[in-house]
Amino acid sequence: MTSIKNFLINEDAVLSQAMEKIDSNGKGIGFVVNASNNLLGTITDGDVRRAILSGKKISSPVDEIMNKTPLVTQQNQSIEECINLINKHQNETGITISILPITINGAIVDYFEYKTNFHAPIASPVLSGNELKYLSECIHTNWISSQGRFVKDFEQSFIENYSSPYAVSTMNGTVALHLAASALGIGPGDEVIIPSLTFAASINAILYTGATPIIVDIEEDSWCISPEEICKNLSSKTKAIMAVHIYGQVCEMDDILSIAKKNNLFIIEDCAESQGAKYKNNFVGTIGDIGCFSFFGNKIVTTGEGGMCLTKNSQLNEKMRKLRDHGMSRDARLYYHDVIGFNYRMTNMQAAVGLAQMEQISQIQNKRNRIERQYQLGLAESSNLIQQIKFPNREKVCWLVSYLLTSNKISRQEFIAKLKEKGIDIRPFFFPLHLMDIYKKFAPSSCPVAESIANNGINFPTSLSFSDVDIYRITSAIKDVLNEIRTSS
Ligand SMILES: *Cc1c(COP(=O)(O)O)cnc(C)c1O
Repeated sequence: MTSIKNFLINEDAVLSQAMEKIDSNGKGIGFVVNASNNLLGTITDGDVRRAILSGKKISSPVDEIMNKTPLVTQQNQSIEECINLINKHQNETGITISILPITINGAIVDYFEYKTNFHAPIASPVLSGNELKYLSECIHTNWISSQGRFVKDFEQSFIENYSSPYAVSTMNGTVALHLAASALGIGPGDEVIIPSLTFAASINAILYTGATPIIVDIEEDSWCISPEEICKNLSSKTKAIMAVHIYGQVCEMDDILSIAKKNNLFIIEDCAESQGAKYKNNFVGTIGDIGCFSFFGNKIVTTGEGGMCLTKNSQLNEKMRKLRDHGMSRDARLYYHDVIGFNYRMTNMQAAVGLAQMEQISQIQNKRNRIERQYQLGLAESSNLIQQIKFPNREKVCWLVSYLLTSNKISRQEFIAKLKEKGIDIRPFFFPLHLMDIYKKFAPSSCPVAESIANNGINFPTSLSFSDVDIYRITSAIKDVLNEIRTSS
């Protein structure tokens, strides 16, 4: 948000001073006020341009050209009332107003922004903290590769924020999962149980090790892997369970832990979509043997591309560090390799962005929660849209706001296409793994729950730059499209 101060123009100002103010806020308009901050008029960049063309000087007083009867709104007016005011004005005059001064008893307190050419991307990060400063430090100090202070500091921020003894950063989330599986010794002949509803990287990471993934169904109410289905699919070859905390939700970890304990299995947590979520006061990623994170551009925290593995086990920590770094022996001779490793290191530049993001982690989580609440308010009366159940033991987070379309009279494809026409970028859920040609041989039985959730699930735009007004507009568009489809079918 641009500060209201960047809009205020003194009543004695001349056009050049008004132009400076308008330039500083980048919104094309200024508010002319007296010494008590009372709004006297508005002046747009177009007003100034037309005045100059008609012979005014840049030294002419603003008072001569400002609009003395501007459209204003009061602080207690709702988003809906403000939008109605703008629409009414447009119908009457043909002029679209995008910035409305907000006043209390004539004094200006804020502004209401109604973006023209509104577009809602599915996800966009906010990089307005120390991201640029830290990145510049990498360039200025020449530490752009995988050595440098930010890699350690970013790992440390995970250790501190999530109470994990060890953190190993990687170049992306997919290799974090592969590194975890490799460090656990998972390989040919082993089976790893995985849910059908996840992003393909989860299963690919298992396949890279030569092990066999076993795709199972999910829970109806949480959309996460079903402990019951895990039990049904255990065999003498089962070596691990991949617990994917999907769409901000948390798996039923007590059940999964007890299955793992009884059968001597490892647990890899895929936390790519649930950073900061908790199961009974423990952060996801610290419950199983290794927890893996992703920092892709649309994830909760981003480093452009990036990943992290958390563990409490010092040997796994050592093993992951070694495998990440070409399998190079960490104490014997230099350039002596005693295992076949990888180059999965994160760069100092990625970590610089990540550290700056982690400094803002509570604001990021709060903003995401606020976005989700605004959706819930806007869609409260939409009977054909439901969310995941909230469980008392599982503290979910908001990644991409996720809903299920519950009416089979409404085509998801049509719903998505109609919202796209309105500039709202919504996405279907992941295609279930067990139905894709390259993976279906790994599913011993059908996964009807995953199929139904995947068929009906949608992600709504969850960009950190959204204002409440933006989400109001998105939810209004969603309701309009639902009504349109309902009445036409
Ligand atoms: C994003 C994601 C990954 C992969 O992370 P990348 O950083 O994109 O490699 C893995 N699993 C899940 C569930 C994801 O959403």
